[in-house]
This record gives sequence, C-alpha cells and structure tokens, in this order.
Amino acid sequence: EMSVEKHVFEADVAKLLHLMVHSVYSDKNVFLRELISNAADACEKLRYEAIVAPELLGSDPTPRITLTLDEDSRRLIVEDNGIGMSRDELVESLGTIARSGTRAFMERIEAAQGKDGAQLIGQFGVGFYSAFMVADNVDVVSRRAGSDKAWHWTSDGKGTYTVSAVELADAPARGTRITLHLMGDAKIYTSRWTVERIVKDQSGHVPVPISVIEKPGAEPAQVADGTALWTKQKSEISKEEYTDFYRGVAGQYDEPALTVHFRAEGRHEYTALAFVPGSKPFDLFDPDRKGRMKLYVKRVFITDEAELLPRYLRFVRGLIDTADLPLNVSREMIQESPLIASIRKGLTNRILTSIEKLAENEPETFAKLWENFGSVIKEGIYEDFERRSQLLALSRFRTTASDEKPRALSDYVRDMKEGQNAVYYLTGDNLAQLKASPQLEGFRARGIEVLLLTDPVDSFWVTTAPDFEGKPFKSITQGAADLAGVAKQKDAATPSPEASPSVTEFVNFTKATLGEAVSDVRTSDRLTESAVCLVAAEHGPDRQLQKMLQGAGR
Ligand code: ADP
Ligand code: MG
Repeated sequence: EMSVEKHVFEADVAKLLHLMVHSVYSDKNVFLRELISNAADACEKLRYEAIVAPELLGSDPTPRITLTLDEDSRRLIVEDNGIGMSRDELVESLGTIARSGTRAFMERIEAAQGKDGAQLIGQFGVGFYSAFMVADNVDVVSRRAGSDKAWHWTSDGKGTYTVSAVELADAPARGTRITLHLMGDAKIYTSRWTVERIVKDQSGHVPVPISVIEKPGAEPAQVADGTALWTKQKSEISKEEYTDFYRGVAGQYDEPALTVHFRAEGRHEYTALAFVPGSKPFDLFDPDRKGRMKLYVKRVFITDEAELLPRYLRFVRGLIDTADLPLNVSREMIQESPLIASIRKGLTNRILTSIEKLAENEPETFAKLWENFGSVIKEGIYEDFERRSQLLALSRFRTTASDEKPRALSDYVRDMKEGQNAVYYLTGDNLAQLKASPQLEGFRARGIEVLLLTDPVDSFWVTTAPDFEGKPFKSITQGAADLAGVAKQKDAATPSPEASPSVTEFVNFTKATLGEAVSDVRTSDRLTESAVCLVAAEHGPDRQLQKMLQGAGR
C-alpha cells in the first residue's frame, strides 16, 4: 500500500495561485510556453549531467518534448525525457517559491489587475503555477534520471497538494509528465491547430524538438525541430524569429530594443546572440540579480552564472555558444578561462557600439533604452575605468537647458559659455526640487547649463569621473562657484558680490554666530535672488552624497 502525503503550499504560493486563478488574463497561452520552457530546461540539465554520467541517458539519448491532446477527457499532457524530479525536488520546486522577487511580483500583479499579467508571469519566473490559469487539476508524474523511484504530485491549486510514490509502469521511463485537467473554457487547448500555432509562435526556437500527438494513441507529429536559432546565418533569420527567440530566452513579452548577433572568429571562436529588452525587468536593482547571459558549449547549456558581461550590462539577455571549452568545464575553469575574459571584452564592445549606433540611427528607440537602463549603464562610469569616456559619451542627462529631452555631454560642451571651464551639475532626489534650487540662480543669470542629476548612482560617478573632453565635473553645491569669468545675461538681476565693507562685516558676524556649525562663510556669485545657501566643501562629498551617506548610516 503506497502512502499519500498531504502538504500545504507555502503562503506565497497559495496567494499566487489565487491570483492566477481569479485574475482574467488577456493571454492565457503563456502557460504553454512556461511548461515547454521547463521541459526544455530539464532536457538541457540532463544533457549537462550526462557529460560526466553518460549512463543517465540509457537507451534514449535524444531529448524530446511531447504534447498529447485528449479532447474527450479534456486533458493536455506535456511530457519530457529530461532530468526529472525526485520526491524532495517535487516538494521543493512545486510547493515553494525560492525566488526573492515573489513579493514584488504579487504587488505588481495586483496593481496591474490582470492587464500585463502574462508578461509579469514570464518576467518573474513563476512559470509552473501558470498551469492553474487553465487547469482545475494538475498531475505531475516524474522519475529522475538514474532513479528507480517515480513520484506523483497532484493539486487543485486551492492551498494543498499531495505527493505519493507510483509504480514505474505508470511513469515515464525518465523525465516528467504533466497532465492538465482543463477548465471548460480552456478546451481549445485540445485542438491540434490551436496548440501547434501557439507552440510555433512562442516556443519555435527552444533547442529541443517538440511533437504533438493529436489524440491518445496517434503518431507524434513534429512541430518544432529544436534547431538552435543562433547557429543560423543572420541573413536567414527574420525579425519575427528573433523576437520569438528573445521572448523565450528573456521571459518577456515585448519587442527587444536591440538585437546583437555575431560570430567571433580568430584566436577565440564563439557565437553571441544578445538582446536589450524593450522594457525594464522588475529586479534590475536587486543586488542579488545576476546577469542573464547563458553559456553553451557546442549547443549544450552549461550555466547562466558565468559572468559573461560586466554588472552594468546586467539587463542584457541572451547566450554565448562556443566550441572552445570542454563540455565538462567546471565553475573554477570558467572563472579563470582566458576565453571567458575574451568573450566578456568582445561582447561588451559589441553591445556598446551597437547602442552607440542605435543612438545615431534610431534616436527614439535609444531614448527609451536610456530611460530604462541608463541608470544601470552609468554604474560603468566608475566600475569600468577603461571604457569611462565611452560610457560618458553614451550617457544622456536632463539639464537646465533641456529638462524634457536628455542631452549628451558633447552637446553640453559644444554649448558652453565663453570663459566657462567646467561641466556643472546639481544632484538631488527629484527634478522639480532641483529646478527650484537657489544654487542655480547665478548659473541661470549667466545662461550656464547645469546637469540635473537625480539617479542615486549619479552622486557616485561624478566623484570618480574627473573630466569629459578635458572639462572637469563640478558640483554647484560645492566650494566656490567661480563664475566671475562668465558674463551675466543682460536682463539678470545684479546684486553686487564684491565685498564692500558692510558685506565683510556681515560675513564676519555670521561666522562668529554660527561658529563650529560651518567651516566657512563666503560671498558668492552663485546667487541672484536668494540671500544665502548652504554649500559643501571644495573637496569631499557634495551635498547629495553627504545626505546619501548619512542615510546609509555611514
Ligand atoms: P523556473 O523555471 O523559473 O525555475 P518554474 O515555476 O517554471 O520556475 O519551475 C519551478 C521549478 O520546478 C524549476 O526550476 C524546476 O526545478 C522544476 N521543474 C518544473 N518543471 C520541470 C520539468 N518538466 N522537469 C524537471 N523539473 C521541472
Ligand atoms: Mg520555468
């Protein structure tokens, strides 16, 4: 007699499932992409484990995903011959959410009220549970490669699930079989035409062949051949094919802002296919967020933890495939490999030059890209010393001259006033507050443009980037403003900054009164209407950075 264990879903899963079932999504088809993507992952994990343990493949070495349609009993079965799951893995993977982004996901999905649900599901990687959007019962029968036990997980998605052992005869010889008992309005997923169309649209480029069995007992018919898109010539790939592939690899439902596909030849050979997403992933600033570039060796997925790009390009998705590493490459070998170092460099260069070209040829697409990822790219200004001037040139900033459309530093330098010898900036929390700052008065009076920097990262890079095209960066809240060399514009108010005896007397009085609270009191060119303002010392952090460091408890 085999025992059935009953489990309660982790609280987050229960809540998530509730949202899945009760929200109305415009596009439920996404569940199929999620299950196929898990099946393909499972096949790739097996391929990888089999490198050191080839016996795991047994007499069935070819990966495959099969969809069986059963209209009469309203079922859809997704089966793979991949790695499979042990009992513990079933409980761990299908009863909890290991990811840190879950809470953020819930908030977003509640806020979206079903509108962007499909995209959110992909983005947040809550893939498997999306099965409950179309099924009121889900059975998972799995046998891990190399194991002589098979397990049955089942749930109606209402708070609990059960796990029990099953006879080997009732399980796949290896891998996972997921049976969806479809809800009434999800019966279309037993239609061959519908399912084939969805598979071709969403999953046509997964690197595992996919077949459909029209009804139990029928012959499988192949719908997707598992050819890896990146191995084809660029000229043979349509824009739609790239987009489909991007959606699969990035788990997003938008259009890529940029596609970079190339083959590097010479000392190190590899193929790269990388995308800049068209919208912003929710966890862009999660400190634990890793890059999402996958490493393949001869079309075998190896890892998505190799650091194939610098951190400031962590929003790029895609893959590298190379024949120049052994299949059984270890983590340490990857870290130390000169090939990886060379890929990192080559790929970074290609991505940055492609973004530069985009800025030139498609300014609107670039503007969107910058809005989404500019604050991350700017981290590179202090992290990637070698490419600092390239990254500065790529950067765009809102300024007193243009607070809607961000400007390039080359525009700023070109429009500098006669006698002006620095790039001036003001940092703060938001644009409205910056624009109202009295510190700007003297600059406005002289028509001098000031960068208005509102990203937290700005306070850091400005202190480490000494100059752009020979012009130093200077905070207008710091030290003497030194504007005497630039003529004021005609209509500006003209108080006299010169130290008349009464001004000197006032300064001395103020110094004596404030004592230790300030390090100096000075007359200044920087104000035209306000009487006084606080500035930071010439050297050391500027006002905004001081505030941020205080906030961080340092
Ligand atoms: P993700 O794929 O982002 O990890 P999912 O919710 O889609 O999230 O899947 C959760 C986990 O369940 C997977 O990471 C995997 O460990 C396991 N899993 C799901 N489907 C399969 C499958 N067909 N074969 C093996 N493991 C699977
Ligand atoms: Mg998944």
